[in-house]
Amino acid sequence: MSVDGAGTDLLITGADLYGRGRADLLVRDGRFVDVAEARSDAERFDADGLVALPGLVDLHTHLREPGREDAETVETGTAAAARGGFTAVLAMANTHPVTDTAEAAEHVAALGARAGHAAVVPVGAVSKGLEGVELAELGLMAWSPAGVRVFSDDGHCVSDGRLMRRALEYVRAFDGVIAQHAQDPRLAGPDACCHEGVVSGRLGLPGWPAVAESTVVARDVQIAELTGSRLHICHVSTAETVDVLSWAKGRGIAVTAEVAPHHLLLTTDAVLGYDPVFKVNPPLRPSEHVEALREGLRDGTIDAVATDHAPHARHDKEHAFAEAASGMIGLETALAVVLETMVATERMSWVDVGKRMSVDPARIARLTDQGRPLQVGEPANLTLVDPSTRAVVDRDTSASLSRNNPWHGLELPDPVVATFWRGKATYRRA
Ligand SMILES: [Zn+2]
Repeated sequence: MSVDGAGTDLLITGADLYGRGRADLLVRDGRFVDVAEARSDAERFDADGLVALPGLVDLHTHLREPGREDAETVETGTAAAARGGFTAVLAMANTHPVTDTAEAAEHVAALGARAGHAAVVPVGAVSKGLEGVELAELGLMAWSPAGVRVFSDDGHCVSDGRLMRRALEYVRAFDGVIAQHAQDPRLAGPDACCHEGVVSGRLGLPGWPAVAESTVVARDVQIAELTGSRLHICHVSTAETVDVLSWAKGRGIAVTAEVAPHHLLLTTDAVLGYDPVFKVNPPLRPSEHVEALREGLRDGTIDAVATDHAPHARHDKEHAFAEAASGMIGLETALAVVLETMVATERMSWVDVGKRMSVDPARIARLTDQGRPLQVGEPANLTLVDPSTRAVVDRDTSASLSRNNPWHGLELPDPVVATFWRGKATYRRA
């Protein structure tokens, strides 16, 4: 059976749209068309019992290519994305070479087009070489065929307030957004690897205090207010940052924010066994922060869930905790963790899941053909979700090249049944 999106109609029957009611969907040439037009030879997909969501959009993916193809490639990373229900990923700029020129951005976009599993949207660096000194070619990246709108030095903080101001002023001309990895490098330097508190003291690990994040965010929202520009905060991990965001939004500042799934479920206690799979930057935080993040996502202070999918090769991750690389993979399990922490606990509805994982990420990144309603005329980007199946996560079944999976051995929801990008099935559960 082929579901290639071209030529043949695809009739998806009985899907529960956003959990609001059942309907049939007809896909032709990559778009939804009126079901009444269905031809008798249409291929059928029985979605009875499945919830249909707009294709998920990840604002924060590390695909590692070019440069670290031993950890991930665009091909494997986007295959993992499709398995996770994503139809678009924003590819972070900290590759080798760094995505700090129009040519580099176009190269990443071309790799994504060749792989064909999801839209790959390059993120441009804020500073040349991510060095935090000189602005990268923001305008050239924006006006190039790659159409870059999101700029980030992620992995590094834009710690120089003057550089942040200039970047924010610059991107206003093309409705761009600066996505900040908020980490004051003096308060939490490169060795900081564990939330500063009881656990870091007991384990003797260099502490990463919560204020190293929230003080940078407090500065940047005020610079964004001054310049009238759009600012986005990556992987919010502390209760204090949620408070600052709430204050900023109350003043009408154009700030948005994301939270990573691991920060919604895991706490600092996970590192007690010194297992480097739980080393991530920013670090896992105590439960009072986790609770504040869940509440912030529920009430919209945090706009989006983003994976911070960070694959690492074994030889970079399997070291003593303090020396191991930071980061964990997460594309395939993001929706599962959101269901576990936010839907099963009745903090979020299916409509909210669609908003936080598709509609709002697409809006932040200015992706005009993602996060759209499931209705006639729109691009057929959707994810079909089984709300009740659970499974034990097995890192060895991942489509990612890397195995640094913090959920291995844990039972979680197993929601994604099929993903369609531009009407083409990019993933179907066997
Ligand atoms: Zn980061």
